[in-house]
Amino acid sequence: MGICTSKGKYSRQYDRYEQQPKAPAQHAHRSPEYHQPAAAAKSSGPPKSPKHTPFRSDTILGKPLEDVKLHYTIGKELGRGQFGVTYLCTENSSGKQYACKSILKRKLVTRNDKEDIRREIHIMQHLSGQPNIVEFKGAYEDKQSVHLIMELCAGGELFDRIIAKGHYSEKAAASICRSIVNVVHICHFMGVMHRDLKPENFLLASKEEDAMLKATDFGLSVFIEEGKVYRDIVGSAYYVAPEVLRRKYGKEIDIWSAGVMLYILLSGVPPFWAETEKGIFDSILQGHIDFESEPWPQISHSAKDLVKKMLTQDPANRITSAQVLEHPWMREGGDASDKPIDSAVFTRLKQFRAMNKLKKLALKVIAENLSEEEIQGLKAMFTNMDTDKSGTITYAELKSGLARLGSTLSEAEVKQLMEAADVDGNGTIDYIEFITATMHRYKLEKEEHLYKAFQHFDKDNSGYITRDELKAAMKDYGMGDEETIREIISEVDADNDGRINYDEFCSMMRSGTQQAKLF
Ligand code: ADP
Ligand code: MG
Repeated sequence: MGICTSKGKYSRQYDRYEQQPKAPAQHAHRSPEYHQPAAAAKSSGPPKSPKHTPFRSDTILGKPLEDVKLHYTIGKELGRGQFGVTYLCTENSSGKQYACKSILKRKLVTRNDKEDIRREIHIMQHLSGQPNIVEFKGAYEDKQSVHLIMELCAGGELFDRIIAKGHYSEKAAASICRSIVNVVHICHFMGVMHRDLKPENFLLASKEEDAMLKATDFGLSVFIEEGKVYRDIVGSAYYVAPEVLRRKYGKEIDIWSAGVMLYILLSGVPPFWAETEKGIFDSILQGHIDFESEPWPQISHSAKDLVKKMLTQDPANRITSAQVLEHPWMREGGDASDKPIDSAVFTRLKQFRAMNKLKKLALKVIAENLSEEEIQGLKAMFTNMDTDKSGTITYAELKSGLARLGSTLSEAEVKQLMEAADVDGNGTIDYIEFITATMHRYKLEKEEHLYKAFQHFDKDNSGYITRDELKAAMKDYGMGDEETIREIISEVDADNDGRINYDEFCSMMRSGTQQAKLF
């Protein structure tokens, strides 16, 4: 087995922990405006339209309570963690199986707990659609619990595979390491720091030997704020980076944790081990890496070189995710023909491209009204694509940005996406256009957003968007000839009264966002 060695037993011995500095000023993840919507909703009373479901400031998800059992049949337990229990579940309408993580609301005591769960959902939505990341399906809230529906990973945890195997061959380890570092790369590119990378949080999509690895559990993840120094002690003992223990860190900690995982994949034991938590921390801070014990003498020089670079004490000198993916061992040991899979940005741009003009315009109105907090990740992604920091994304920047996220595209495809996102047609994608075209469709679940967009068009507050209102709105944005306006109304106006009511508007906004097969 190779698990019990003189170094000790590799086990789940240490739970993750979340320990925050005492001084409130140092709290790492709270935007000061966060609770304003709740306060504002209280003072202004319920919105006037009878059709409108008010924004629920008293709920966790900010939408009406809904019984998850109306949509899913809950089955056996798959696993449990700190807050929740994950069950197998079946979607009633399709018969498809998913995983449902249910969190009891009474366990969410403090304001921080509630923010943490909202942030976990927000980050999952933001990252959803990426290879190697568990796909988010939806969130429901009832009186007792919050339920997160996500893709089912039927193959269990990577942790259990490592335990069963002892350790992996270099080739297999390289392939797994590539998936892990891919996750780190995508998270960082999309402005997220995971903070809890470990084999328990990587699941296998199926029971097959070569099943795809999927990262899960974004419960400790945060949106990276430019220039911010993070100080909370989070993570799990074996995987925690030395600078976390020194309470001054940034996204480089994820590479360290991935390096610890690589060491374990190759040898079956953790690089920093002791009987006590304090002992583990001392060993991490001391930083000596044992390459002498078995099986290290047989492991290639190149593999050890990568481990050393990932487990570099000084985060400023540590290898980055992009550099790991370029490291010779990743190419030698792994499967060079690993086909890149379309990134979520690409998919969202494609979906956006397929939308009618009213929908594009409505999304722009929504984008303009999103709070700072809701656009955190997209903002980071925009900055990462706008390589010359000009405030706009050019054709070349879009092309190389999508390539860095794993999509290989032809000139024509990039051009089509560019034209679709460039709502005002000036040849580049500005910040609002980027947010408009790439924001997640789950934003549409929020009644609040849809209602605001509807109101934007319904200038006289009649409860209908009339032909004239539509025309005026579209003219404002330099689009909308007679023909387009006629097309939109006939497409959206289900009851054929020549105008668009709120229900028709909502069903248009929510329809057809699932798939777009255009290329
Ligand atoms: P916690 O935040 O409480 O640690 P996790 O999200 O890690 O919760 O889920 C707990 C356990 O449930 C996981 O370690 C895993 O065994 C199981 N699990 C979670 N998500 C899925 C999924 N999508 N498919 C299958 N099992 C899952
Ligand atoms: Mg977990």
